[in-house]
Amino acid sequence: ENAQLKDIIAHAKEYGFVYPSSEIYDGLQAVYDYGAYGVELKNNLKRLWWETMTRVHENIVGIDAAIFMHPTTWKASGHVDSFNDPMIDNKDSKKRYRADVLVEEHAAKLENDGKVEEAKQLTAALARLLEAEDLAGVRDLIINEGITCPISGTSNWTDVRQFNLMFSTQVGSVADDASTIYLRPETAQGIFVNFLNVQKTARMKVPFGIAQIGKAFRNEIVARQFIFRMREFEQMEMQFFVRPGTELDWYQKWADVRMRWHLALGTPAEKLRKHDHEKLAHYANAAMDIEYEFPFGFKEVEGIHSRTDFDLKSHQEYSKKKQQYFDPEVNQNYIPYVIETSIGADRLFLLTLCNAYTEEKTEDKTRVYLKFHPAVAPVKAAILPLTKKDGLPEKAQEIVELLKYDFNIIYEEAASIGKRYTRQDLIGTPFCIAVDHQTLEDNTVTIRHRDTTEQERVPISELHARIAEATSF
Ligand code: ATP
Repeated sequence: ENAQLKDIIAHAKEYGFVYPSSEIYDGLQAVYDYGAYGVELKNNLKRLWWETMTRVHENIVGIDAAIFMHPTTWKASGHVDSFNDPMIDNKDSKKRYRADVLVEEHAAKLENDGKVEEAKQLTAALARLLEAEDLAGVRDLIINEGITCPISGTSNWTDVRQFNLMFSTQVGSVADDASTIYLRPETAQGIFVNFLNVQKTARMKVPFGIAQIGKAFRNEIVARQFIFRMREFEQMEMQFFVRPGTELDWYQKWADVRMRWHLALGTPAEKLRKHDHEKLAHYANAAMDIEYEFPFGFKEVEGIHSRTDFDLKSHQEYSKKKQQYFDPEVNQNYIPYVIETSIGADRLFLLTLCNAYTEEKTEDKTRVYLKFHPAVAPVKAAILPLTKKDGLPEKAQEIVELLKYDFNIIYEEAASIGKRYTRQDLIGTPFCIAVDHQTLEDNTVTIRHRDTTEQERVPISELHARIAEATSF
């Protein structure tokens, strides 16, 4: 794994952000748990997304649909028949791979070696074969290109098979086909099946949106790169229902709105890019990803898709219930078209962590700190009495009382002040507030700023407003 990613994974574990799931049993592949600071950071990211979606836009409301859905949902959505990845096994190492990813990685290697044209032809050939569902052809491509298993080094490959990514389980006590249900692989369908419920009860008029945050599950064949690709993860999706014919304008608009959101969170423009899909999913008439430059390259964090009326139309067909909207402005009944913005909360978390992780080399040592936007920082301020005596802890506790109902605050009195500053740097706390003897005389404290390490003297009465201003978004 990439050296910088390794440092970030180690840091995330050491400082209470992310642990492997059930680690005492050596973990569970592609499943992770969030620790004390991780859960705060993740909640902050989810809250910011939720608030910008549902509060800033008066025509977007939220829902919280169940993870389990009627099994026909996934017939209608196309997931039962086509939510597949092509997989291939190496007979010597017994390792399983995604056949398409093996080819793509090989193409990336060719490109790196300056063989740009060859790489292009290879990706095009792969796209053609996948389009035609020619799995034997994909295998031939792997053999002809001499692609070998990174573990065994051999090209002793099995056939390529389709592998459905949905997890299934049984409801009730009888295990027959009819009782098989799925763990949702995306949150979107919970919105589509509730389209009319929400439209009517929240009295929405097209164009309007429905937002949702929730868990999704995919039995990913290759699980790598930490929380980038997980088997259990969280999605933040918004489906925006529009009049047919206006969808491509809304698609551009939402792509721009979402890009601005990422920039406002402090992600530098040069680390973000839009990437149009060459190959469109069965339900889309336009699609792009917002990509971020992770330590392992530019990769998708968010998808913006123009899903046409595919989902609602299909649910209408399978459920035999009309999924139409009467638009009084044009005096017409129609099935709305849908623009979707879909981002993984965990992927956004990884982006935020990668972006914040800073190593600053001075002559004799390296200073590591997490440069979070104060709005998402897990802890907003640490209150630190200079010593454990002379009434300083009591004075510091008064400040904690003043702030703790509005901000996540830490109080710490152990160790030297320098060590305590360092500890807060490592979890990304933007403000350290030191209480000293002068505080007892004039009710002022020292604020030490994380990014610059500069200190300033501030009256206690100004603290609340200062922190509120810095942590607002
Ligand atoms: P990929 O190509 O990376 O598999 P995708 O195109 O299948 O992703 P979508 O179905 O568009 O992804 O899902 C929308 C978003 O959900 C993605 O942009 C990503 O942020 C998140 N996501 C999807 N799969 C995973 C996963 N296995 N682990 C974590 N986040 C995921």
